[in-house]
Amino acid sequence: MPENTSFLPDYTATSEENHAYMRQILPLMRRYQIPVDPMNFGVWYHYVAGINVELNKEIDGLINEKALFDAALNMRLYKTYVCTASVVESFENINRNLLRLIAETSLSVNATSEKVIEAGDNFNNKLDALKAEESQQNLKEILLEVILETKQLADISQDLKNKLEDSRKEMDVLRDELMHVKVAANTDSLTGLLNRSGFDTQLNELIENTSIRHVCLAILDIDHFKRVNDGFGHLIGDKVLKYLASILKKHSPEHYHLARYGGEEMAIIMPSTQLTEGFTFMEKIRIVMQDSKLKSNNEAGHLGKITFSAGIAALEETDTPYTIIERTDNALYEAKESGRNKVVTDKHLGSKMLRN
Ligand code: GH3
Ligand code: MG
Ligand code: MG
Repeated sequence: MPENTSFLPDYTATSEENHAYMRQILPLMRRYQIPVDPMNFGVWYHYVAGINVELNKEIDGLINEKALFDAALNMRLYKTYVCTASVVESFENINRNLLRLIAETSLSVNATSEKVIEAGDNFNNKLDALKAEESQQNLKEILLEVILETKQLADISQDLKNKLEDSRKEMDVLRDELMHVKVAANTDSLTGLLNRSGFDTQLNELIENTSIRHVCLAILDIDHFKRVNDGFGHLIGDKVLKYLASILKKHSPEHYHLARYGGEEMAIIMPSTQLTEGFTFMEKIRIVMQDSKLKSNNEAGHLGKITFSAGIAALEETDTPYTIIERTDNALYEAKESGRNKVVTDKHLGSKMLRN
C-alpha cells in the first residue's frame, strides 16, 4: 500500500532555488545567533522561501525590534509555523487503524457468509433426505442434525454480532480521536482560539451557507504591541495575548467564532449579528481591555494601558471571504490611522469613528 503523505508539507522548490535559499539561510542564522539545528533550520528555510506569510511578518517584526532569538522563541516559531508533525502522525495513525478495522470486519463478514452458505447447502441436502426418508429412527437422526446445525448457525451469527459490536466500539473511539485531531489542527496553541486555518474554514462555510443572514466580521490589532515585547519581553507579550483571548471568550455569545488571525491580531466572526450590534460588542471588549490593569510578576510591575484598534464590516450579498476581509482591514487601518484604541465600521469610514 502506498504511504499516505497527503498531510505532509509539500516543498516544491527546485534544486537551484534550494541552493539559493541555503546561501541566505546560514548567514541569517549566524547574524541572529541561532543554533543551526534541524528545527531552527526549518524555521529559517520557511522564512527565506516565503512559504508562510504570517511567519515572515512575525520574523520581520522580531528583527525590527531587535528581539533575542532565544531557545523559547525559536521553539515557539517552530511549533507555530513549521511543525505539523504531531497532527500528521495522529491522522496517519487513525487512518492506519481505520484501514485495519475495515479489513478485519470484512474478513469476519466473508468468513461468516461462507459458513452460512455452507449451512444453507446442508439444510437443502437434509430437506431432500427428509422427503425421501420413511424410517422413524432415521427421521429422528436427521432432525437432531438439523437442530445441531441450526445451533451452530446461531453461534456463528452471534460471533459475527459480537465482532461487529467490537468494531463499532473501536470505530467510535477512532471517530472521537479524529475529532480531537481536527480540533487541534484548527486551534491556536497559545490562546486556544481558532487558528488562521480554522478561521478560513468558518468564514468560508458561513459565506457559502446562504441561510445565515447578517454576518459581521471584526479584526482587532493590539496597539503598539512591540512596546510590550520590548519593555517586558516576549513571554509577557504572550500573556497579554492570552489575556485578550480570555476576555473575548468570556464576553462572546456562544455562536461567535473567535480566531487568532495573525501574530497580535484577532478576528471575530459574528453570525446573525447586525452591524450596530457587532459594533457595540467590539466597543464593550475595547473598554474592558483598556480598563484592565495588567501587571507583570517581576519587578517591571504594571504594563500600563494596553489597547487595541478594530475594524468591523457586515457581509454583503456579493462578498467573498477576500472582499469582506479587505473591507474589515481597511476599517482597522482607519482605526489605527485616526489615533488607535477605537472601533471603526467599514460603512462609516471617517464619519462614525468613536473617539476614546
Ligand atoms: P500598531 O499599533 O501599529 O499595531 O503597532 P505594533 O507595535 O503592534 O506593530 P506591529 O503590528 O507591526 O507589530 C506587532 C508585533 O507583535 C511584532 C511581533 O513581534 C509581535 N508578535 C507577533 N506575534 C507574537 C506572539 O505570538 N507573541 C509575542 N509576544 N509577540 C508577538
Ligand atoms: Mg499587527
Ligand atoms: Mg499591533
